[in-house]
Amino acid sequence: MQVAVIGAGAAGCFCAVEIRRRLPYAQVTVFEAGPKALAKVALTGGGRCNLTNTFQDIKELEDAYPRGASVVKNAFKALSPEQTFQWWDNAGVPLTVQPDGCVFPESQDAMQIVRTLERLMRSSGVQLVCGHKVTRIHQDLQLEIDGLDEPFQADAVLLAAGGLKEDALRSLLPSSVAVTPTVPSLFTFKVPDSGLKALMGTVIPDARLELAGSGLSARGILLVTDWGLSGPATLKLSSYAAHVLAQSAYKGQVAVNWLDADPAQVREWTLEASSRQGRRQLSGYRPQGLSDRLWEHILKRAGADRSCKWAEIDKAQRARLEQALTNDLYPIDGRARFKEEFVTCGGVSLDAINPRTLESKTVPGLFFSGEVLDIDAITGGFNLQAAWSTGYMAAVGISGKLSHM
Ligand SMILES: Cc1cc2nc3c(=O)[nH]c(=O)nc-3n(C[C@H](O)[C@H](O)[C@H](O)COP(=O)(O)OP(=O)(O)OC[C@H]3O[C@@H](n4cnc5c(N)ncnc54)[C@H](O)[C@@H]3O)c2cc1C
Repeated sequence: MQVAVIGAGAAGCFCAVEIRRRLPYAQVTVFEAGPKALAKVALTGGGRCNLTNTFQDIKELEDAYPRGASVVKNAFKALSPEQTFQWWDNAGVPLTVQPDGCVFPESQDAMQIVRTLERLMRSSGVQLVCGHKVTRIHQDLQLEIDGLDEPFQADAVLLAAGGLKEDALRSLLPSSVAVTPTVPSLFTFKVPDSGLKALMGTVIPDARLELAGSGLSARGILLVTDWGLSGPATLKLSSYAAHVLAQSAYKGQVAVNWLDADPAQVREWTLEASSRQGRRQLSGYRPQGLSDRLWEHILKRAGADRSCKWAEIDKAQRARLEQALTNDLYPIDGRARFKEEFVTCGGVSLDAINPRTLESKTVPGLFFSGEVLDIDAITGGFNLQAAWSTGYMAAVGISGKLSHM
């Protein structure tokens, strides 16, 4: 019985180990196009591997997984984040939780994850074949592979090839498998604004960003860089708006709410400032949480005279100040990468698979897991968690199918 896994990444290696656990008599071969397995995992989390999350700050799964939350929900029934924690602990990798819910190996070393998966693949008898790219999957599960004279005939195939582009996926897969357009996610915004650039290095702990006209918004820490906006709030918005921004060629407007406050709250604050702090200059009294430098910038954006007293500002000036605090508009002119970290959104359409097994609806025996599916997440360990859980779910599906053969 032959199982072929395409791609020795997080999802493929995890799945291969789990198939052999269930079907020790099946021959499991992992084909990897690159020179070695798990190359990307070695780079994750800046070399520390943020391999999952406690989900403590996630109210709805859609907040972490803008695409694919319903399938991820099923996958968590097969392997939940808590069970993933246990899985790694059983494999000899104790984990540690950061205050923000991100989970890392205690060793803070992504190579421990790589070495553990490699060891488990070896000890369970998984065959790893590196430097061989699978170029075509046929309807009957025959694979064409670079560097092999003969096609490889499998009884089941897992496609875990990561974030391939739409064209590459279409040329690899039988035409009956639907593929959705692929675009990058998790990027920062280039903002050509000299005033903002002067704030480089400023960290705003609680901000809200909205892509103007889209209704899409994200809150969290905001970082001003020399090219524009970065930090968790920006990355989250880039994920929520990945398709919209791709369609507009990464041009648009972002509205910054520097306090993540409702306009009514801010109005109350400005009224109170005028009545209780009326003798102070605008520059001398600012909302809590804003640095001096940022407040001066906001006053400029509002066209306010910094030496004017709070008691002296008129209605129009008050409205401009409130606007600059809660709806400060900047142009977006392109995207930039975040520490080389990115994921692909789009891929194998979730309509093309059985959401309970991850098997293709049109190619029996062909399964999918990881980023190759139209599933992607915000930063924080959620993408790797999806790779582990969908890899596990596909292993259950493949084992169930082959055990009836
Ligand atoms: C720099 C960086 C840092 C990241 N950090 C984190 C993090 O800390 N936490 C987190 O949750 N997520 C992180 N991510 C995202 C996460 O790494 C991915 O979502 C995850 O690795 C996807 O796993 P995968 O197995 O689906 O794909 P991959 O890990 O991309 O593996 C796919 C494999 O398939 C191979 N392949 C492709 N096509 C073929 C073919 N035709 N034939 C044979 N082999 C093929 C590729 O060479 C690759 O090795 C990070 C991403 C990057 C780029």
